[in-house]
Amino acid sequence: MCFPSIGHGFDSRIPHSMSQKFIKNKEDFVCGHCQAEIIGNGFTNHCSKCLWSRHVDNFPGDRANDCGGLMAPIGVETMGGQYDIIHRCEKCGMVKKNKTAKEDDIGGYLTRMIE
Ligand SMILES: [Zn+2]
Ligand SMILES: [Zn+2]
Repeated sequence: MCFPSIGHGFDSRIPHSMSQKFIKNKEDFVCGHCQAEIIGNGFTNHCSKCLWSRHVDNFPGDRANDCGGLMAPIGVETMGGQYDIIHRCEKCGMVKKNKTAKEDDIGGYLTRMIE
């Protein structure tokens, strides 16, 4: 019995992950949805103006996902006085919850939802 070696995480032939530069966690970015310039604080990965995000994390801040799709805010949830945004990736359809930051414009988002 001889099995060909197919990659299970130990395969160094994985095409692109080795050649990509790691992105610093505390990066500034331009929102892919409203083009606002966001100053990264190391915690938030979404736009504080329109709340759109980008699918780059498996777990918050790890930047381990290379999907890169834009994530639409599809809802807001309150948890003990704290807001969580529900994001859905427009590219792969993944749904994730994200903690909000105090500079996030939740009020503006909720107003736009109602309008
Ligand atoms: Zn934005
Ligand atoms: Zn995605």
